[in-house]
Amino acid sequence: MRYAAYFKKRGSMSDEVDDQGRLHLYVVPSDLPCSRCGAPGPNLQWRLSGRSGVQCRTCLSSFVEQINRELGADDPTSKGYQEQEDDMYCVQVQPGWYNIHRYQNGAWVYVTALEQHKLKKLVRGLHLVGTSEGAQGKRRYYRRSERPKSGRRAQAN
Ligand SMILES: [Zn+2]
Repeated sequence: MRYAAYFKKRGSMSDEVDDQGRLHLYVVPSDLPCSRCGAPGPNLQWRLSGRSGVQCRTCLSSFVEQINRELGADDPTSKGYQEQEDDMYCVQVQPGWYNIHRYQNGAWVYVTALEQHKLKKLVRGLHLVGTSEGAQGKRRYYRRSERPKSGRRAQAN
């Protein structure tokens, strides 16, 4: 059993971060009480970078959520935006340069860095579906098509 948290900085946590930038907490059952709320066992013992602790499932979940929040996984996004497979976002990293991330297999993956004129070319034909103010700056989210995948015609009118 494992809990995944999204991790932005690559390389810093070595084998505990997968190639999608997710941090994995490995947990094993433990009979010790939860160190946060004192709930009696059975609980879960986690290990991370030489540290370990015992927490109940509820406390461990909020711990993982807290990591995700700190890493910006829950940065406020414009109302109504819900990431979908194959969405992309760009964020300016320095004047004229943008990092491109794509949502694949349930995680944002860094793809490449592009100059502004190449970015303009890339997003031509894509729909801007949301924005957010993240720890790293303003993100703009794009989607290939708003049409449903089934190919059935929408009866919107
Ligand atoms: Zn607890």
